[in-house]
Amino acid sequence: MPPIQSDLQGFIRRLPKAELHLHLEGAILPSTLVELSARHHAQPIALAEAEALYRFTDFSGFMMAFKAVTGVLVGPEDYELAAWRMMQHLAEQGVVHAEVYVSVGVIYKGRDHDPAAFEPIFAGLERARERGERELGLTLYWIFDAVRHFSVEEAERVFRKAVELRPEHPSIVGIGLGGDERRMGSEPFRAIYAEAAQAGLRLTNHAGETTGPEAIREALSIGSERLGHVVSAIQDLELIEELRAKQTPLELCPTSNVRTGVCGSFGEHPLRRYFDAGLLVTLNSDDPAFFGSDLASEYLLAHTVQGFTREELRQLAANSIRASFLPEAAKTAWIERIESIR
Ligand SMILES: [Zn+2]
Repeated sequence: MPPIQSDLQGFIRRLPKAELHLHLEGAILPSTLVELSARHHAQPIALAEAEALYRFTDFSGFMMAFKAVTGVLVGPEDYELAAWRMMQHLAEQGVVHAEVYVSVGVIYKGRDHDPAAFEPIFAGLERARERGERELGLTLYWIFDAVRHFSVEEAERVFRKAVELRPEHPSIVGIGLGGDERRMGSEPFRAIYAEAAQAGLRLTNHAGETTGPEAIREALSIGSERLGHVVSAIQDLELIEELRAKQTPLELCPTSNVRTGVCGSFGEHPLRRYFDAGLLVTLNSDDPAFFGSDLASEYLLAHTVQGFTREELRQLAANSIRASFLPEAAKTAWIERIESIR
């Protein structure tokens, strides 16, 4: 590796960063899959096999990998280990705060919608979070994510669980909608978003990943405060101006968009154009284990492919803190730290 690049990698690592668009299930590395498989399978998967599974080249390959991962997430201890390994990997990259999507809808679906299934699993996640805060100095919030194309009732079940658990667990900071945007937009979720906001939950939403700018407008219209992907906003200059004026935080995930075929290459991703237009953009990794990426490598690619300078990478790190749901005092402290990093 050229010395300049390794120096830059050190700088990226030292920058305190927040990761705001990360799915727990998508953060399970092949090595963790092996560990979990050893708990559940008579013939556990080997590391080489797990790595091969993650090198999928099409959507059915992606589905096979996803199924293998959800198949080893059986009990609370499995979720606890997955979350703990995820936090270790985040800490290694200099991530100081993460807001992590938990697919509560998928957890229910995989357990015959048993209303008692979730709490023990969440207790496992909380044990990992508390250990991570204690041992790694990394803060973490949970965002309960529903699969938009399952049904509105499913999403209501997920979001009401967030409302119910939040008083006991302030780490549950918000809600989000993932799944197939082409099959279900945001409008059907207007009432349940309002209900969640009323209960103090913050509203995120995947929008404009596989759909046009109208889907982004629809997501904004139901009160979504922070948007994931937002790739198609580039097609609508009025929308760009609105996002700039309101400084709507955007969770961009360039490598994810390349790997799923939404963007032809990292170079074609609108990250640079959004940044230059003054939008509040953040870099994120989405499902890093599945895409062979992580947050630090997104920062490095922003530099090598889109020419982000050190000062601009610093700005991206500051944006990630600003766009987080951390209290203002914590944001101010982290931004001061970011400014002092050389
Ligand atoms: Zn996502």
